[in-house]
Amino acid sequence: MTKYIFVTGGVVSSIGKGITSASLGRILRNRGWVVAPLKLDPYINVDAGTMNPFQHGEVFVTDDGTETDLDLGHYERFIDVSCTAGSSITTGKVYRNVIEAERRGDYLGATVQVIPHVTNEIKKGIVEVGRINEADIVLVEIGGTVGDIEGLPFLEAIRQMRKDHGKENTLYIHVTLVPQVGPWGEIKTKPTQHSVINMREIGISPDVLVCRSEVPIPADVKEKISLFCDVPPEAVVESLSAETIYEVPLLYEDLGLGDLVADRLGLERRTPDLTEWRDLVKRLKAPKRQCSVAVVGKYTMNGDAYKSIAEAIVHAGIANDCRVEVRWIESDTLEGASDPSTLLGDVDGVVVAPGFGDRGVEGKIRAVQYVREHRIPFFGICLGLQMAVIEYARHVCGLEGANSTEFGPCRFPVIDVMPDQVDVTQKGGSMRLGAYPCNMTGGTLAHQLYGATRIEERHRHRYEVNNDFREVLIEHGMVVSGVSPDYRLVEMIEVPAHPFFIATQAHPEFKSRPNRPHPLFTGLVAAALEKKAKALVQPGV
Ligand code: GLN
Repeated sequence: MTKYIFVTGGVVSSIGKGITSASLGRILRNRGWVVAPLKLDPYINVDAGTMNPFQHGEVFVTDDGTETDLDLGHYERFIDVSCTAGSSITTGKVYRNVIEAERRGDYLGATVQVIPHVTNEIKKGIVEVGRINEADIVLVEIGGTVGDIEGLPFLEAIRQMRKDHGKENTLYIHVTLVPQVGPWGEIKTKPTQHSVINMREIGISPDVLVCRSEVPIPADVKEKISLFCDVPPEAVVESLSAETIYEVPLLYEDLGLGDLVADRLGLERRTPDLTEWRDLVKRLKAPKRQCSVAVVGKYTMNGDAYKSIAEAIVHAGIANDCRVEVRWIESDTLEGASDPSTLLGDVDGVVVAPGFGDRGVEGKIRAVQYVREHRIPFFGICLGLQMAVIEYARHVCGLEGANSTEFGPCRFPVIDVMPDQVDVTQKGGSMRLGAYPCNMTGGTLAHQLYGATRIEERHRHRYEVNNDFREVLIEHGMVVSGVSPDYRLVEMIEVPAHPFFIATQAHPEFKSRPNRPHPLFTGLVAAALEKKAKALVQPGV
């Protein structure tokens, strides 16, 4: 019998539902259960692909090429599973399916309504994700905050799930805020009470309350919450801000959340295997070394816009026993009269980030030129690879005016639209998306780092290296270290004359996990540490 856990949020947004869900997934996985995570997003976009990263944070891409909310990244990193198209259900997707069914005549003349047609479509998606993944537990996070108009059909659908599947197979977890107010920092339970009242009005009585608080919640306050919100005291779980997000599953485990959830769902009590997770958190919290890596991008003002890159760097730090200080650099600031050495002169490594459109592109090219000439370890991701190729064409191959046709017509279009993208005018879901295989060229840095001859990485792009220029790039010392199996697409490049200069057309950040750090990020941090050590021996070099 599949079990369903629903995680809702109250009081304020950005309360940490994503990390709470992901952490819960990890503690259940540590008990050997097969957990299938699922995000229900009330926005009307069909997927997150068309959303601006400034507003909404990173667009995460799954193996099967679905463009999703960044919370799926948390699920994959914490639970160590691969999400699929079914792991993300939006209002847009639900309505699209319902309207298509109506046009086909599937509803046999019925008036199509939110209840039951829309709610049935949502419930179908929830059950389906459990079935496809043969999951013991489907872990469903509902985006937004209780009280939002657009969230209502989702809340109604999960309310009905208890009726359909029984109390013993469904669990409602509500994440709320327990703030401190006034000069003495009094802990207030009223927002939580109101939030639970809101939930009850729509027919859901939360079984467990996860209370986000800056300070430990005293026993009498927990009892008060328990009394007013009608949950037993042991189901009032305090959730303090942790030093690292990866510690949250361990904190929940210490508070007994794993056993509580297992008991409530009638699952047998199992002893969790925490060895690997405890070890990685320990290493993360007390690293022996330190280095700095700059990330040059154009959405750096929003901390969530490069979430997976930030996390992949943390994972690479764990692998290298190193705290990596990340310096976020807005690519615009490297343009015009600015001197790149003021921003990049003292960093140990540089990542040039993915992106779309021409803003900040010249700054990224400048960053590549600086790190190439100053032998600073460099890792280019997607647009970062394209920037590296343009820079090399301009300054090493002598192709002045080399550029990408993404930014308009140019003299040497070293980056050009992919043949299968030429006629595409639709914006959503129309790129080269998802996992594609790549063959590694023997003896290259990429081959050595991956330790494999064939790898698979996720993609999200329209443009690629123009094969008309492959030859001239190679003649001037650039190495194509990864190609698509049909040799048509350049997937990876490197410059062997440089200590560490590597770039990929893919997005390896999406596959990095704290317990399985990605070799390209691990390689970058190792190279950064090496550079730092050398600089210490030879000051000023
Ligand atoms: N804009 C580039 C392209 O479409 C790069 C995309 C990216 O960095 N994800 O090819």
